Amino acid sequence: MIPSRTELRTEAIVLRAIDYGESDRIVTFCTADFGKIRGIAKGARRSRKRFANAIEPFCCSRILFSRRSPDSLALIEGCDVLSHFPGIRSDLEKTLAASCLIDLTDQFTPEDKKSEASFCLLLDFLRLLEGTALTESLLRFFEIRLLRISGYDPVLDRCISCKTPIVKEAAYRFDAAKGGLTCNICAPGSRDAIPVSLGTIRTLLLGREMEIDRLGRLLLSDQSADESRRLLAHFIRHLLGRELKSVHVLNEIRRLYV
Ligand SMILES: [Zn+2]
Repeated sequence: MIPSRTELRTEAIVLRAIDYGESDRIVTFCTADFGKIRGIAKGARRSRKRFANAIEPFCCSRILFSRRSPDSLALIEGCDVLSHFPGIRSDLEKTLAASCLIDLTDQFTPEDKKSEASFCLLLDFLRLLEGTALTESLLRFFEIRLLRISGYDPVLDRCISCKTPIVKEAAYRFDAAKGGLTCNICAPGSRDAIPVSLGTIRTLLLGREMEIDRLGRLLLSDQSADESRRLLAHFIRHLLGRELKSVHVLNEIRRLYV
């Protein structure tokens, strides 16, 4: 007997969408209640009315879908757009930044495992990006919070080897393989570790803990922006085994404008 389909509703943000067959689209969503799901939007390319612009990347909608089992492809029955983020879409750099946010969320969110925290984080930062200027700190604070949610929280408040809490007098490096800071006594001049100043460490710790609506005011100095970009890019590349294309593109574009 074929199991019947259950109809479900949730809030969801589009991570990816690809054309399928004559007129369908296969969409990957980050959802509030069901983790990451993949679904087919039948006739999405033929009937603009039914899905409007709800299945474009980083659009947030309330979706109605059905599926036979959690691991089967969902059938997307309908979408009500909650936010299309016009302020992001009308700005090239913000659009590229939003692409980084959704790519990172996609990579760090497991399929079919409820991850409300990932959904809320992504939505919070899309709203922040929509309403404020794009800053280096916004990208870095997203990355560090996503790492925490995903269980890859880097150790930044003490040396990962000797466990001594960070102090002003010591020098630190970030060791991606170990997943945290090492002091200069434990790993003097370790080849693969990135030197990082105390100011950068403290700002990253603040950016990880601070309430979201106060984050926009916490800016990184040029030195901290540079160090934290290198540190987090290096760590994320180490975890994923590659660099994300969207991150590479954003960095290239930003270099042109600096
Ligand atoms: Zn140490």
